[in-house]
Amino acid sequence: MSAHHVPDYQSALHISGVRTRFVKVPMRFPLGTSAAAMTSAPLLLVDMETKEGVVGRAYLFCYRESGAKAISEVLHEAADLISGMPASPAKISALLARRYALLGVSGIVRMALAAIDIALWDASAIAANMPLAEYLGGSLEPIPAYNSDGLGLMPADKAAEEAVQLLQPGFHAVKLRLGHPDRETDLQVATAVRAAIGKGVELMVDYNQALTVPDAIRRGLDLKDLNIYWLEEQIRHNDLQGYAAIASELATPIQIGENFDGPEAVYDAMAVKAADYFMLDIARIGGITGWQRGAAMAAARGIPISSHLFPEISVHLLAATPTAHWLEYVSWADTILKEPLQISNGNIAPPNRPGLGLEWSEEGVQRYSAD
Ligand SMILES: [Mg+2]
Repeated sequence: MSAHHVPDYQSALHISGVRTRFVKVPMRFPLGTSAAAMTSAPLLLVDMETKEGVVGRAYLFCYRESGAKAISEVLHEAADLISGMPASPAKISALLARRYALLGVSGIVRMALAAIDIALWDASAIAANMPLAEYLGGSLEPIPAYNSDGLGLMPADKAAEEAVQLLQPGFHAVKLRLGHPDRETDLQVATAVRAAIGKGVELMVDYNQALTVPDAIRRGLDLKDLNIYWLEEQIRHNDLQGYAAIASELATPIQIGENFDGPEAVYDAMAVKAADYFMLDIARIGGITGWQRGAAMAAARGIPISSHLFPEISVHLLAATPTAHWLEYVSWADTILKEPLQISNGNIAPPNRPGLGLEWSEEGVQRYSAD
């Protein structure tokens, strides 16, 4: 026994079980993109239990109901595999990646394993009595956020109206979905939104993979006088050569990354200069362990990193990301959380509570239960 014994909180926690609950929460602004239309968000709530009594939490946005069921199935099996082990996120992440290598760590499996990773980091930070942002070496300073709650595919007049509504909570930036069947509608909608929000507000545009390379270049040039902050995911998400071609033709920065499958994808995208900005999705990049690895690679080339969905979790990660850029804000989880994120003058700070600071509102969970 060392004379200077430092308590090791992670090895003090041992995984004892997992609880998942499926809720379908209403969306304040129904969201139609070029890929799908949604009026409620299917969320899977995860509680990782430890023998020591600390509970680590995470939630996943599952896109579809079948996604929530499949992810839950994998998650319970994976939790059985690690039952009794020390709650050490990086080690558990490596172990589970091996166990699921032959099935394939991607899609639903990737998301299930990410939820375990997130919950284990949460438990570790709770045991250390620190907000996760600080546990990861960051601070609780506010992060600039844009409102992504609505502005799906809609006619110009409706989009202009909704854009103004989205600024109400104090935001100075909003994201608009485009990718209408014809170019002219895209230009009309974007022009109407820019006129409605004025010059001082940042406007991001997301095509949700709707276009071809030549069309993406044409539509990007169409918007060149509207001061668009970034153009996001115009084409199939993993056509990195296609993105490099688009980026070389357009002056407006290109944003990709919400579909990066593991941190290695950051390296691949940088290698071909596919885009100016990357946005990481905590579930697809491999949880908190995967995010840190991806963000470290991006930092080596000074690439700005934004987040995709999960603002309550991502805000802690951006706080510890060297090239942190924008937090994507959606209010979807508000109804099932005791203390939703607070927006202050367009910024959001990690909450000063242990871990992620996620506490379920049992009333909300019961009301929207879809188990
Ligand atoms: Mg997107």
